[in-house]
Amino acid sequence: MTPTSTNIFDTIIIGGSYSGLSAALTLGRARRHVLVIDANEPCNARVPHSHNLLTHDGVPPHVLRTKARADVAKYPTVQFLDGRAEQLGGTDGAFTVRSSDGTEHRGRKLLLALGVRDELPPIKGLAECWGISAAACPFCHGYEVRDQRLVVIGNAPENVHYAKLIRNWSDRLTLCSNGPSRFDNEQHEALRKQGITLVENPIAEVLHEQGQVKALLFADGSRRDADTLFLRSDTIIPKALTEALGVERTELGLLKVDPMQRTNVPGVFASGDCTTPMRALSAAFASGTMAGAAITHELLPE
Ligand SMILES: Cc1cc2nc3c(=O)[nH]c(=O)nc-3n(C[C@H](O)[C@H](O)[C@H](O)COP(=O)(O)OP(=O)(O)OC[C@H]3O[C@@H](n4cnc5c(N)ncnc54)[C@H](O)[C@@H]3O)c2cc1C
Repeated sequence: MTPTSTNIFDTIIIGGSYSGLSAALTLGRARRHVLVIDANEPCNARVPHSHNLLTHDGVPPHVLRTKARADVAKYPTVQFLDGRAEQLGGTDGAFTVRSSDGTEHRGRKLLLALGVRDELPPIKGLAECWGISAAACPFCHGYEVRDQRLVVIGNAPENVHYAKLIRNWSDRLTLCSNGPSRFDNEQHEALRKQGITLVENPIAEVLHEQGQVKALLFADGSRRDADTLFLRSDTIIPKALTEALGVERTELGLLKVDPMQRTNVPGVFASGDCTTPMRALSAAFASGTMAGAAITHELLPE
């Protein structure tokens, strides 16, 4: 039989990173009983320094998370469980969450602050560089590599616009389509006008030293030296947890929420990267705060 914790929490938060902790802070300050379950695998774990976060520009992500958790831990009605939520069930007012230690927890509301998993193209050496010298967001990582040798990897039509965006930070820019390009004549012309070199050779390997890219090695044996790679990862949110509850997704596969971070399932909220393509710490904090406030409103007695 599954052991059941005796508490009924006002809210169970699944994912205790930037967004989940932000919601926990709001709920803890509203004197709500909260359980935060976190598997401790944030998407930016390998990033040496986070940027574009006012008051904490350039701070290592683990420092931010440690401080965030300490801020929340000051509130005695918030509890933490290090582990993974494996199964969700129930309905508004009476949800159940089974965690990886086999315990079942009960909560009136649920907040899904799960983040996303980045899936990269299967290019040798690329995964080792992700977060260190390969990234998606130029607003987070463009300034530090300004005027350097940048390479955008991608062959979908939207990568032409993406390359034009990255061009804002350096004119030493190459777009690698990793195989014959699928861009039309107009897009080829746009790249030419911006001075962006297009390389269509398939990439055999990213050559790097401890995650710092040195060059791209192509299938024909040629190589191109590079300092930083930019590419859009595919973002994955595992289906098992959310499908059991019937949470709807957007066409991008993200969890669909309204401006109050409510999903289509009564009593189930979602915040942070799992709800938006605008992946930024400031956005994760903001949506967590909104979710915490909206949940508090819903918990008020009738
Ligand atoms: C390489 C990279 C670099 C970035 N750099 C910057 C930057 O410089 N500046 C910036 O503003 N933004 C940056 N970002 C974006 C920023 O990291 C994200 O927007 C932010 O981490 C989102 O916070 P989150 O809480 O939604 O998700 P995450 O931080 O990804 O955390 C999700 C948490 O949920 C947990 N979880 C998931 N499923 C379960 C489960 N079933 N049970 C329990 N726990 C679970 C995970 O283990 C994880 O701890 C970067 C992102 C990447 C990938």
